[in-house]
Amino acid sequence: MANDLINAAERTAIQRLAGALALPAFDKGWVWLAGAGPGDPGLITALGLHAIAGADAILYDALVNDALLALARPGAEVIYAGKRAGQRSCKQSDISRTLVSLARKGKRVLRLKGGDPFVFGRGAEEALMLARAGVPFRIVPGVTAGIGGLAYAGIPLTHRDTNHVVTFLTGHGADGKLPALDWQAIAKGSPTIVLYMARKHAGEIAAKLIAAGRDAGEPAAIVSNASFRDQAVRVTTLAELGAAAAESAAPAILVIGENVRLRESLDWLAGAAFRDEDRGEALARSLKS
Ligand code: SAH
Repeated sequence: MANDLINAAERTAIQRLAGALALPAFDKGWVWLAGAGPGDPGLITALGLHAIAGADAILYDALVNDALLALARPGAEVIYAGKRAGQRSCKQSDISRTLVSLARKGKRVLRLKGGDPFVFGRGAEEALMLARAGVPFRIVPGVTAGIGGLAYAGIPLTHRDTNHVVTFLTGHGADGKLPALDWQAIAKGSPTIVLYMARKHAGEIAAKLIAAGRDAGEPAAIVSNASFRDQAVRVTTLAELGAAAAESAAPAILVIGENVRLRESLDWLAGAAFRDEDRGEALARSLKS
C-alpha cells in the first residue's frame, strides 16, 4: 500500500494539529476503532487523521479511501481487512483476533472502517471482542454514508416540510437475507427511509413498503460511490427502485422520501471544486512532494 508518501513537514503539521486541539495520545497497546467517512478523504475527523498518523498497525476496510492510508507513518503495517458482498473476504473472527494480538504485542492499532464504525459495519462486534479480551480501546466516530453520502448528493435528511423522523435500515441481515422488520410501522412512521446494503433486496423492500401503504410514485434515489470522485446519483420512484438499484454500482446508499426532490435545487456538488481536476492534482502533489 502507498505508504511513506507524505513528507516530514506534513507529518509535523498533523502532530501540531493534534497538539492545538489537545487530542488524546494514541498509547501503545490500545486499539482505536475509527470511521474514515464515506469516501472523500476530507470527511475524516481530526481524531481519525491523528490516529492514522500515529498508528503502528492499520487494519482497513474496502470502503476506506486509499489517499488516507498514505498518511500512515513509514514502517506502519497497513493490512487490508475488507469485506465486499460476493467476494472472498476476511473472516470477522480473524480480524478481531488480529486486533487483540497486535494490541497485546504493544502496538498502537487502528481499525479504520468506512463511514462511522458503529453504523452497520460490525464495529460493535469488534469493540465487544476487545472489551471481552480486556484490550483498551477508543471509538472515533465518522461521517456515515447515510448522512454524509446523501449530503454529497444534495439530499438533506430532514426538512421541516417533509419529515420529522428518519429511519436507517440495513437490507442485509446476519444471514444475508432481508431482516424481518415491521414494514407497516416503518411505512407509516417514517417519511424518510435510508437504506444501507440494500441494492440486492431493493425491489423486495419497495414492494413491502407499497403493500404497507406507501405511494408507488414516491421519489427515491440511489447514490453510488457517494463522495468519491465517481459518485453517481440516480433519482427514481419507489415502484422502480428495485430495477434502478440492479443497474447501479456498489457501494450504494438508497433513500426513499419527499426529501429526494430537494436535490433539484440543492445539488451543490455539480458545481463544486470537488469535481475539479485541480483538487486531484493538488492531492497527488501534496502526497508525493
Ligand atoms: N459503517 C458504514 C456502513 C457500512 S455497511 C457507514 O457508516 O457508512 C456498507 C454499506 O454502507 C454499503 O453497502 C452502502 O450501502 C453504504 N456505503 C458505505 N459507503 C458508501 C459510499 N461511499 N457510497 C454509497 N454507499 C456507501
